Amino acid sequence: MEPGPTWCNMRVSRFLTCLAACLLLLGCARKEPEKAEFFVFGTLLDVSLSGADKATAESEFAALQGMFQYMHKDWHAWEPGALTAINQAFATGQVAVADHHIAHLIVQSQAYEKASDGRFNPAIGKLVGLWGFHTSDYPIHAPVPSSAEIEQLLAARPSSQDIQLRFIANDQWEVESSNPAVELDFGGIAKGYAVDLAIERLQASSIEGAIVNAGGDLRAFGSNQGHAWRIAVQNPLGGIIGVVEIAGSEAVFTSGNYQRFGESDSGFRYAHILDPRTGWPVSQVMSATVIADSGIFADAAATALVVAGLDEWSELATRMGLDSVLLTDEQGTIYMTQAMQSRLQLAADFVNPVILLD
Ligand code: AMP
Ligand code: MG
Repeated sequence: MEPGPTWCNMRVSRFLTCLAACLLLLGCARKEPEKAEFFVFGTLLDVSLSGADKATAESEFAALQGMFQYMHKDWHAWEPGALTAINQAFATGQVAVADHHIAHLIVQSQAYEKASDGRFNPAIGKLVGLWGFHTSDYPIHAPVPSSAEIEQLLAARPSSQDIQLRFIANDQWEVESSNPAVELDFGGIAKGYAVDLAIERLQASSIEGAIVNAGGDLRAFGSNQGHAWRIAVQNPLGGIIGVVEIAGSEAVFTSGNYQRFGESDSGFRYAHILDPRTGWPVSQVMSATVIADSGIFADAAATALVVAGLDEWSELATRMGLDSVLLTDEQGTIYMTQAMQSRLQLAADFVNPVILLD
């Protein structure tokens, strides 16, 4: 007859079962995030999903791949697609048809151009092209345009307000420009909207949290394995300025003249962000970082703040209703609002001067 379990080895076996269950739970809690990389608008875009099973992750990544492909093709400023066809129609006084995403980008552009008093102006595509920025190869070495060429484009006063939209049906809007100089370039806003659409899709799934990061411009929601998402704010001069934690489904976007720039033969280095009021690339501000509730707004606002420069940025931040803003100038000094200061944990090795907005 087999000996029955003794009281002692029953306790041992219960302990072992309990230990195994704990380890299993620990294993679940530590489940690695599911990650995928996409290439869109000339940038690598990382998506990281927290608490997603493999099958859900795979189907979400496949859906995102389709979305990003559509965006890259249809919103591209110079590769032939829906936007270039619309720009062609604007230049020749024709009516074109836009889907609701492009219609949304136009309507938001009009709002942000107005709110920024023209510092953000996505209708200046001809100027951006004139400066050689309709390329994916950086740094660029296109010749610096002549003042006469710049003046000619400025005199035509391209503005997104020149565009009229008429709803036709379902996913179709008629769009028309009363100004043939209007050429839409969504370079300052498209990444923000792309990140929003990806986050909105993921939020509707059963996933516990996600981050969509387009080369440092990002939005997150939910938790990162039970913890808040921690975001490093890059120092344009190298290293990091500090770290912020994301609350809710906030976006953190940075615009700057340090990654994408042109350089003339004489060594004149210029940013890919233009001041729509002068037609010239901006200087002074090296980068502007904004935290806001949506990617599209954070993206447009960061671009507008770079254009505003050191004298006007704080007034513009108030005017646009932004509270968490940080700028760096060409010497590496940082300027920030109180709201940003209260969230930013400065890196221990960050020693540059910090100027706080009262
Ligand atoms: P971002 O990196 O978001 O600041 O966007 C920069 C891109 O937006 C440029 O590469 C241009 O395509 C476009 N752009 C340049 N200047 C402006 C401006 N003042 N307003 C709106 N878009 C701009
Ligand atoms: Mg932008």
